[in-house]
Formats: sequence, C-alpha cells, structure tokens
Amino acid sequence: MREQIMGLITPTMSIVFIAVFVVMWWRGKMENYVLAFAAAYLFFALGFGVTHLFDTGSPYVFHVTQFFYTLSVAAGVWGLTRRAGQPPYLGVLLTIYGLAATTLAVAVVTSPDIASRLIIVNVGYGSMYLVCIMSLLGAQRREAIDKLIIVTHAILGAQFMIRPVLTLLVERSIAADIYRESVYYSVLNLSLALVSLMSAMVLVGACVYDQIKAVREQAEIDGLTGLRTRRAFEQDVVELLEKAKQEYLPVALVVADIDHFKAVNDVWGHQIGDHAIARFGEVIRGTIRETDIAGRIGGEEFCILAWNCDEEAAVTMAERIRRNFAEAPVEGLLEDHRLTASFGVAGRGEGEGYGKLFARTDSALYRAKDAGRNRTVGDREKQRGIVTPIKVEADEQGAQREAIA
Ligand code: GH3
Ligand code: MG
Ligand code: MG
Repeated sequence: MREQIMGLITPTMSIVFIAVFVVMWWRGKMENYVLAFAAAYLFFALGFGVTHLFDTGSPYVFHVTQFFYTLSVAAGVWGLTRRAGQPPYLGVLLTIYGLAATTLAVAVVTSPDIASRLIIVNVGYGSMYLVCIMSLLGAQRREAIDKLIIVTHAILGAQFMIRPVLTLLVERSIAADIYRESVYYSVLNLSLALVSLMSAMVLVGACVYDQIKAVREQAEIDGLTGLRTRRAFEQDVVELLEKAKQEYLPVALVVADIDHFKAVNDVWGHQIGDHAIARFGEVIRGTIRETDIAGRIGGEEFCILAWNCDEEAAVTMAERIRRNFAEAPVEGLLEDHRLTASFGVAGRGEGEGYGKLFARTDSALYRAKDAGRNRTVGDREKQRGIVTPIKVEADEQGAQREAIA
C-alpha cells in the first residue's frame, strides 16, 4: 500500500509539469522545444505507470517500460538541444536504445533476477544524457540558465549510472515478480521524484527566462526595420560611451534622415513610405559593422553609433550608406525612382555624454539639409560626395502615379 501511494507521486507531478509546459507553449506561443518537454514528461509518466501497474513478472513489462523511458529521454534531449541550437544526435540515441534493448532481451530470457536488467536499461539512459550534455557543451552562447541546465542534467544522467549499481550492491538480487517490494524500487521512486522535480523546475525556469528575453527583445527591436527602438538604442549608447571611455576608444555618432519624405507619403501613400523606411533600415544593417549599433529614433530618422571610429571614418561609413540607399530600389516606387537621405556625423569629444554629442550630430544633419540634401556633413564642416539627387517633387510624382493608373 505504502509503495502504491509512493508510486503515485511521480506520475502526479508529471501530469502537473505536462500541463505547465503545454500551457506555456500554447498560450505563450513558444517554440516546439517546450512541447518536447511536455512529451518527455508524458512518456516518463507512461513508462512509470507500466512498471507500477502491471505484473513485473511478465517479461514484456521491462521492454515496454524501456520503450517509454527511451521516448521520454529522446524527447527531453531533442527539446534541450533544440533550445540551444545544437544537434540532437537522434541516430546515436537510437543506436544506444538498440544495443540496450537487445542486451535486455537476452537478460530477460536468461535470468529471472532483474539486477542485470536494471543496470542495462539505466546505463542506456545515462549514456543518452551523456550524448545530450556533450551536444549542449558545444553551444556557442552559454548563459547562467544554460549552465544550470547542463549541471542538473549531468546529475540526472549520473544518477542513472550510479543508482542501480549502489542499490544492487546492498540488495544483490531482486526477483522480477516481487520487484515493487524491493528496496531498489523505493529508492527508484524517491530518486526519480527528486530528479524529475529538479529537472522540471530548471526547465520551467528556462522557459520563463526565454519568454521574458523574447518579449524584451521584441520591445527593443523596431518591427519595420529590424533596428533598435529609440529607447533601446539610447540605453545601449549610454553603456557603450562609458565602455569607450574606459577603453580609450574613439566613437562617432551618425544621424540620418530621408529626404523629402513627406512628399513620398503624400504622393505614394504611407504604405510605400513604410517600404522606404524598411529599405533604409536594411541598407544600414547591411553596411555597418557588427560592433556598431543602429536605431530608428523617429519616423524616418536613424542614428548609428560607430564603435572604435573617429569622425572621419564615420563620415566614410555614412557616405557608403548614403550611396547604397541612393541606388536601392524601393518596393512600390517606379523602377528607376530612387530616394535619398542626408547625414550628420560627429566624433565624440573628450568625456562628452550622449546629449551633447547628439546635439552636435543633429546640427550637422541640419546643415546637410540646408546645403541641399543627399549629402553627409561632419561636425567639423567637411562636406563630401555631393551627387545630383533624383528630385522627389509632389507634382512630378503625382504625374507619374497618374501615368501608372
Ligand atoms: P526633409 O528632407 O527636410 O527631411 O523633409 P521631409 O519631408 O522628410 O521632412 P520630415 O523629415 O520632417 O518628414 C517626416 C515625415 O515622415 C512626416 C511623417 O508623415 C512621416 N513619417 C513619420 N513616421 C512614419 C512612418 O512610420 N511611416 C511613414 N510612412 N511615414 C512616417
Ligand atoms: Mg526627412
Ligand atoms: Mg525627419
């Protein structure tokens, strides 16, 4: 009776965890690895139920349990490796299962004592977790939660290897038909309840962490351009300015604004205006270096912090963006129609904060606009790269639109 009640703990906990993972996946619109965690607990509960409810004297019980437990481990490994962007090595897991299942079949027919069966299946699960840990260790980015996952699942894998050996040293042999009355079975119940609880807590924590991170990233990224939002950009700039100060590195700010954009909206409509903004974001992303950061700070205004870059180098970078944009077709506009943008650039003065640096950069942009647009002006009054812009005038565009209609 005591064993029957003990045996209910693990499946009951599993049902709760399955519900938690399914709800997180479904309501939180999370990726499929969360569903894999639910599947792992479902197969785990099924495997546990088979041993707990059916006659362990039957030779099939061990095979069916091993099948479900293997599915459980495989689903867990798939979810964990998928989350980390690593290969799940399902072929290796299948090979381990094949070897363990074959050896188990031999053990079942050759001996009524189940000690060897327990060692075979548990070493199999332990080996599968070892494969999982090896795969997770190969991941590039590892945050605290990822390290915690590796440690807890290494413990989970190790207990499969150690538990049967230690317990059987004490108990020596167990007859199959009285398996549930053995000390081993009590230890198994307790250790499975503990490790599955530990694993579930860490996995739920990882899912919550992933969800918070995704929501934060969504709030920090502008949907139209894929660049940072104004708030995220300004936060990052303040941090980077401090870092640059400590490392004695030059930084420069670039502010860009699409020329005659009101006319684009008025003549072609907001949707095409949005296409132009998106295209400009694409050009910026494709031109800046990985260490630079860029944000959309207003409707069609953009800002870039050029890392380890003085004003002159940043002017060169802005010129590259200007030229690339002036050559880029915009969806919805006439085939040969190109838009232009103006740029202001300023290198950071000694100890200068974002506010002052931005004001100098913005006034350089105004000078670029005043000087006729489609150009880059450095704070130190250098102008370059003046090309004749393709004029975007309302009546000319209106005529073009009518021609299309
Ligand atoms: P200038 O060359 O002097 O910059 O002239 P401009 O017409 O571009 O003037 P300004 O920069 O002041 O124009 C900004 C316009 O951008 C006004 C607004 O209608 C438009 N705008 C702001 N945000 C969005 C947006 O998200 N989508 C679209 N389509 N238009 C936007
Ligand atoms: Mg503008
Ligand atoms: Mg503007």
